[in-house]
Amino acid sequence: MGICSVGQEDSRQRLWTSGPVLGIESSCDETAAAVLGCDGTVLSNVVSSQQDVHEKFGGVVPELAARAHLGTIDRVVTHALTEAQVTKRDLRAIAVTQGPGLAGALLVGVNYAKALSYGLGIPLIGVNHLQGHIASAWLADPTFPLPCIVLVVSGGHTHLYRRETNGECLLLGRTRDDAAGEAFDKGAQMLGLGYPGGPAIDRLARAGDPQAVPFPRFHQTRNSLEFSFSGLKTSLLYKLRGMAVPLKPEQIADLAAGYQEAIVQVLVMKALSAVKQAKLSAIAVVGGVSANSRLRAVLSERAERERIQLSLPPMEFCTDNAAMIASAGRQRLMRGEPCSSDLDIYPMDSSMTLSGSATITKGFMEKKETRHL
Ligand code: ADP
Ligand code: MG
Repeated sequence: MGICSVGQEDSRQRLWTSGPVLGIESSCDETAAAVLGCDGTVLSNVVSSQQDVHEKFGGVVPELAARAHLGTIDRVVTHALTEAQVTKRDLRAIAVTQGPGLAGALLVGVNYAKALSYGLGIPLIGVNHLQGHIASAWLADPTFPLPCIVLVVSGGHTHLYRRETNGECLLLGRTRDDAAGEAFDKGAQMLGLGYPGGPAIDRLARAGDPQAVPFPRFHQTRNSLEFSFSGLKTSLLYKLRGMAVPLKPEQIADLAAGYQEAIVQVLVMKALSAVKQAKLSAIAVVGGVSANSRLRAVLSERAERERIQLSLPPMEFCTDNAAMIASAGRQRLMRGEPCSSDLDIYPMDSSMTLSGSATITKGFMEKKETRHL
């Protein structure tokens, strides 16, 4: 099956022959490893969360994240191999998150993967974290149609793409300021709900009335596919300043429900607008925020009503995981894209590397920061 030539490198690293692929993810606050079998099915998907390390600070502390990855990565990889009943020698390739993410955190995963691939003499492929999230939709449903619209909603990203049949992604719109997940996290912090905020608001909002407290919804112009969540955050801040403390539990639940509803309605409205504007009939919604129960419910209802095919990955593939990284890497290996044992990390957002082979973005090209390892 797939054979991947990797150029002038060490001869042991030149070819990818079909077989188990190890994925490694360490871009933020989860150390994750997963193994995909010969046919791409997920044999294991292990995630070690650093929540206990960061929650007392109300957010991710980059230096602590890197140290925690260093202390856990070998254990997590061993666990993933054991669970998959695969030995290191059975592996045929390694896929690792190259960026975007925290520099120190990425360095741990990339260096670990480089050492392992060199020792085993197998190809190493660097994966864009967003490309990983996008791949999660096809991991859950390999038959999901292309072209389609993809909404990536996570702690660091709120990006709308058009994904073509060949896997290339065209950026249609993105947030101008905070990401949707960031808005959840910051809102939760203001409401005293701790970190990570998304799941906390999701839980609490079920007991609240989303209409009780109105929040602003960013639309800009009618067909705009850009997002903004900073005004929403400021609105919550001012509402809280005008309320007598301590707040009653019902008041916090209403605020959480209204705040969540504003995020959800904007995400759904823009995602469906992108589908219409692109004259397509399929949308995949991926990333940590796609775990939100209200977003899933509203999307499912609207997609059904408007006869749009919807892919919402199962929960274990929504938040950061390594199965999606292994899957994105495997797709590229199968397409014969080049591998390299000399990977750089790129901590900054790097939309242009999304398709590996092609580079198309619309108006949001960002500076790519690379660092040699
Ligand atoms: P990253 O931004 O590092 O790629 P993830 O894809 O794991 O991170 O997404 C993490 C984000 O998803 C966090 O901001 C978190 O609050 C948010 N999130 C997770 N679960 C939910 C949920 N049920 N509702 C809303 N947001 C959620
Ligand atoms: Mg992520």
